Amino acid sequence: MGTLQYQKKNLYETMSKEERAKVNAYAEGYKHFLDNAKTEREAVSYLVERVEEKGYTPYTFGEALRAGDKKYVNNRNKSLILFRIGTEDAGKNGVRVMAAHIDSPRLDLKQNPLYERDEIAFFKTHYYGGIKKYQWTTIPLALHGVVHLADGTKLEVKIGEEEADPVFYVSDLLPHLAANQMKKPLAEAIEGESLNIWVGITPSETAEKDKFSYAVLEILNEKYGIVEEDFLCAELCAVPAYKARDIGFDRALLGGYGHDDRVCAYPQYTALMENEDCVHTVFVVFADKEEIGSEGTTGMQTELFPDLLKEVAKSLNVNEAEMRAHSKCISADVTVAYDPNFADVCEKNNSTKLSCGAGISKFTGSRGKSGSSDAHAEYMQEIRSIFAESGVTWQIGELGKVDQGGGGTVAKFIAKLNIDTVDLGVPVISMHSPFEAISKADLYATALAFKAFIKG
Ligand code: MN
Ligand code: MN
Repeated sequence: MGTLQYQKKNLYETMSKEERAKVNAYAEGYKHFLDNAKTEREAVSYLVERVEEKGYTPYTFGEALRAGDKKYVNNRNKSLILFRIGTEDAGKNGVRVMAAHIDSPRLDLKQNPLYERDEIAFFKTHYYGGIKKYQWTTIPLALHGVVHLADGTKLEVKIGEEEADPVFYVSDLLPHLAANQMKKPLAEAIEGESLNIWVGITPSETAEKDKFSYAVLEILNEKYGIVEEDFLCAELCAVPAYKARDIGFDRALLGGYGHDDRVCAYPQYTALMENEDCVHTVFVVFADKEEIGSEGTTGMQTELFPDLLKEVAKSLNVNEAEMRAHSKCISADVTVAYDPNFADVCEKNNSTKLSCGAGISKFTGSRGKSGSSDAHAEYMQEIRSIFAESGVTWQIGELGKVDQGGGGTVAKFIAKLNIDTVDLGVPVISMHSPFEAISKADLYATALAFKAFIKG
């Protein structure tokens, strides 16, 4: 018997032991991804290595495509598109698209990072994405990225992840002397230009001046062959140096850096890998630069994805405009989970709750839905039917109260292509902090949602 009233259900209320084991096992696979893919570059190489094992091969423009083909486009090692050609008519039925992003807020090194002050060597940083600056002080940081040497050698850098590695660090003021700092608003207590990373406190024996920063250069040169000029073209990021960990006695929350948006990227990847049907043509996008507006050649706003759709339509001999008009997309991104400690920023009935399933945001944006693609009712109903058929647990989530703030995703850039798009993702606690938290039940529900979306 149905009920007249709608009620969210907490998945843990009715979860069997067997289901719980599945939920936990799935989270272990996700943890491995989180720990080994802290930057978009690392996510791309992690995924490419694994999809190649599953028979995916690099796509070249103009290549002839047939049903069953599994292809990938590695876009500059920073974003990735996987696609598999289905047996159905992609013109009449369109394609299924899932798009998540694999960049996360962090501290990037400036292009001239090294300096010293009062016998301490530092790296200057420029933060990437929306952060609360005070959260990035006094935590262990690791350096990830790439440095090209003058001779063209490309170094992949990852320092601070192994037990034996050193870590890096941004200092904060002791409370004893913080009377003035404590009176400042949070946004001003730690300034962008004070997010300086400690890198050395011993002098060089050979340098005449700037001995402390020179000593750092000596180490970098001896170990890696780096000279200071190499930083000008380098891409180095400081990210939290710790691994993902279970939170709480019941171990049902999972804490880690970069859930936004790896917690959606991972299940869209596993959904594609586990999908044995080959009816729909499926695209899975792992975009870069979402946190800074989806700009650049590796962000969702670049023409690569539409170019690819064009090429696929041509090769399959279907009308591209018709194909796009019949396509469906899930923009896979996280949303805010209601947190009773900060209850006043959310409107409870329209906020996702932990462990109540995948969170759908019909619209994002701010103020009067500004900047949102706002999925239409008919598409919402289509998604609802797909999920009902497969028993997917989902809930509605709005990013906070009206006029409280807001945010956007890649949804609007895909909707622009005349592809129906709705946001769906895992609810997150402490989003954009160096240690975000999610419910393992929601992660699993989201994986089921993606599987259902591309099934058949
Ligand atoms: Mn996101
Ligand atoms: Mn974000």
